[in-house]
Amino acid sequence: MGKVDRKDGVVRLPLVNPANTPVRDPLGDEAMVDPAVVRLAVLDDLLNLGRANSLWPLTFGLACCAIEMMAAGASKYDMDRFGAGVFRPSARQADVMILAGTISKKMSPVIRQLWDQMPSPKWAIAMGGCTIDGGPFKYPNQYAIEEGADKIVPVDIYIPGCPPRPEALIAGILQLKEKVKAGRRFEG
Ligand code: SF4
Repeated sequence: MGKVDRKDGVVRLPLVNPANTPVRDPLGDEAMVDPAVVRLAVLDDLLNLGRANSLWPLTFGLACCAIEMMAAGASKYDMDRFGAGVFRPSARQADVMILAGTISKKMSPVIRQLWDQMPSPKWAIAMGGCTIDGGPFKYPNQYAIEEGADKIVPVDIYIPGCPPRPEALIAGILQLKEKVKAGRRFEG
């Protein structure tokens, strides 16, 4: 394994060097890296690339925004072009939750249960003003609507609008793909 530098109490990983030869980093230190580390990093990138290009959304909608989500999956917009068109009927087979529509407080525990049933890594998209913060149903002393999907699940992408058009959802999917490619997320 390559050495780990410790300077000023900070642990700094050595530079990645596929040829396993000494390299000089910008701070002037020489370091070696085990090729196995490089291979693991490449494998990780490949897995993330595969995940990003085969997102499987969970089939469920909450209110009117879900109509736009359905349109995004239909032939005109065709989310299959981006590898995200396989809507799964079971939470156990899905890795993306698209929260599309008003979230009533009665539905909150159900949504959380579905989220918990999804295997990690998994991601969530909040689609529409209602899902982001309650939208037009948010007013003082209201008691029926959850004012934000992030109170129930960790949200990765927010898509504003009332409702957002299918193009906006596709833009959100493309943003999510970039996020998935950049790294893993296993927390729930
Ligand atoms: S944001 Fe607008 S379109 Fe979407 S669920 Fe709320 S009221 Fe309906």
